[in-house]
Amino acid sequence: CGIVGYIGQEDTKEILLNGLEKLEYRGYDSAGIATLNQGGVDVFKVKGRIATLREAVDENVKATLGIGHTRWATHGAPSKENAHPHQSKSGRFTIVHNGVIENYVDVRDEYLADVELKSETDTEIIVQLIEVLHNEMNDVAAAFRKAVQLLTGSYAIALIDAENEDTIYVAKNKSPLLVGLGDDFNVVASDSMAALHVTDQFLELMDKETVIVRRDGVEIQDVDGTSVTREPFTAEIDT
Ligand code: GLU
Repeated sequence: CGIVGYIGQEDTKEILLNGLEKLEYRGYDSAGIATLNQGGVDVFKVKGRIATLREAVDENVKATLGIGHTRWATHGAPSKENAHPHQSKSGRFTIVHNGVIENYVDVRDEYLADVELKSETDTEIIVQLIEVLHNEMNDVAAAFRKAVQLLTGSYAIALIDAENEDTIYVAKNKSPLLVGLGDDFNVVASDSMAALHVTDQFLELMDKETVIVRRDGVEIQDVDGTSVTREPFTAEIDT
């Protein structure tokens, strides 16, 4: 029910766990994070509280890029297997998702006949679809854009690619998601509350835009891949 993502210079796991704690008020049944460094992607997830997740996260993992999630199960029981992040067949792509993919059965039947699914979630369909499209297109941003065009329903998603330590891909449709801007970092959050401890500058996203988030900048693209310019707004802490 909440998403955070961070790409910058600092240890990401602490920033993600703090962000997820700030999203706890939205309600959830499980939680997880994925971090990426030269050693690859590490995924930690639990059924239960952020405090339990905190204990499960390996404190030796050092990464400056990661995504995190609190889940409110809609497809598949609350369990460790169904908790996010979810990964593609090869392990290259890792995703977190809030919302509901309405056409996930159609997408599965049309694109994923050769993929053995590891969870019962509608979310896993998204990340497996991105890998199948990437195998055809050989361009991650284009495969991500195509997936966003094919999916119906509500979603806020953040995706990382094990072969690119420099980017988080994000998109939304009828679910909240903001990009928070920093000097040498950027963040992603369902809610500015989850990121106000690091920035108060945010970009609003339009449905079905895709955003390429790097340490040194953010590029918003419309459905055709054309760059879009947008001014940030300043979020204020509610008192
Ligand atoms: N539909 C997804 C699931 O059941 C995401 C739920 C959420 O928004 O937390 O895993």
